[in-house]
Amino acid sequence: MVHKGNIAVVGAGLSGAVIGRELAEAGYQVTAFDSRDHIAGNCHTERDADTGVMVHVYGPHIFHTDDQEVWDYVNRFMRFMPYKNRVKTTSQGQVFSLPVNLHTINQYFGKTFRPDEARAFLESLADRSIENPQTFEEQALRFVGKDLYEAFFKGYTQKQWGCSPTELPASILKRLPVRFNYEDNYFFHKFQGMPEHGYTEMVAGILDHPAISVRLGQNFSRAEVADFDHVFYSGPLDGYFDYQSGQLGYRTLDFERFTYDGDYQGCAVMNYGDVEVPYTRITEHKHFSPWEEHQGSVCYREFSRACERDDIPYYPIRLVEEKEQLATYVASAEQEKGITFVGRLGTYRYLDMDVTIREALDTARLYLTANASGQAMPAFLRSPL
Ligand SMILES: Cc1cc2nc3c(=O)[nH]c(=O)nc-3n(C[C@H](O)[C@H](O)[C@H](O)COP(=O)(O)OP(=O)(O)OC[C@H]3O[C@@H](n4cnc5c(N)ncnc54)[C@H](O)[C@@H]3O)c2cc1C
Repeated sequence: MVHKGNIAVVGAGLSGAVIGRELAEAGYQVTAFDSRDHIAGNCHTERDADTGVMVHVYGPHIFHTDDQEVWDYVNRFMRFMPYKNRVKTTSQGQVFSLPVNLHTINQYFGKTFRPDEARAFLESLADRSIENPQTFEEQALRFVGKDLYEAFFKGYTQKQWGCSPTELPASILKRLPVRFNYEDNYFFHKFQGMPEHGYTEMVAGILDHPAISVRLGQNFSRAEVADFDHVFYSGPLDGYFDYQSGQLGYRTLDFERFTYDGDYQGCAVMNYGDVEVPYTRITEHKHFSPWEEHQGSVCYREFSRACERDDIPYYPIRLVEEKEQLATYVASAEQEKGITFVGRLGTYRYLDMDVTIREALDTARLYLTANASGQAMPAFLRSPL
């Protein structure tokens, strides 16, 4: 095939890998850079040396989507095994089912409500004096009342975001966060599963193309953009501009690893709702691969805190202050030539894996049509604002 041009993808996570693959298949020469010593970005999985358990190194990742093309895409590179995410929470000395459902309500209040009864009961608890909720706390009190709010929302949210739910906007809790049946499958999506040999093997399959070369341990800088016909950048937007307008606010996570002989908690994810418990959840990785058998177990206690310059940015905060700062970076990005910002860090948005892949496919296609018609490629597929 005729070589059509040199492309750099910065970041060998899902964004970079999918864009790289699409363009390699279309006849471009692709170099994928990653500053880490492994591919797959934050979805990276590896086998634990002591126990053989497949570990989700940057926190638990469950694949779920309604997007048929994305589901077919991931299944092209790895077999997906059936997996349903069922989360539990330890709160006020008991273990409950999440998301809050009929079982949770009946257990918490010691009742045997049927759905309509539970709905009426919750309405009697809801604080209707709050007419126009402004904060997360007001919204939760208006939906579920004080007891359920304090048991299941308050402490967890405070630990996760490092501030009181009275400081977070009501928009975080858009809909009534309760189910009036016994459905405890965390996601409603049509397709759900786990890659049989982990996400990193899957991404290795995506990158396995003769026109793609992968350079690990290499930090790509703004000065290198001119060496390529086009760059797709999935690194941090603020980092690209050397933090000239300050650092965009993120939460980072610390994981405290421990091992256990046997089954530590009987499920993959156990949340901790009490604010006195310093961690937000414990992940027991072997339960993500229920088709495998391991005597030993690897668990992560997960702590959330403010992200400093040298930490890994996990969750974008995106409150008013960050959005104003983001606007200045978006304006700078739009002045750049030969680069498109993609993925969760490049666009400062929380993106699930399926959305990341969808946007990566659309970005690559837009590049191909833009090139064919001699149009300039935009800095963003969709505005991050
Ligand atoms: C704790 C947590 C749990 C999650 N759980 C789920 C889940 O259950 N289900 C789900 O669908 N999604 C989940 N996600 C979202 C998922 O992680 C993202 O969708 C996915 O990682 C986005 O891929 P990406 O390629 O855009 O970014 P990343 O995976 O972050 O990849 C970006 C890569 O770019 C590299 N890089 C950055 N700057 C440079 C540079 N200058 N030079 C070279 N390389 C650079 C980084 O090292 C990184 O490897 C979760 C996210 C988090 C934080």
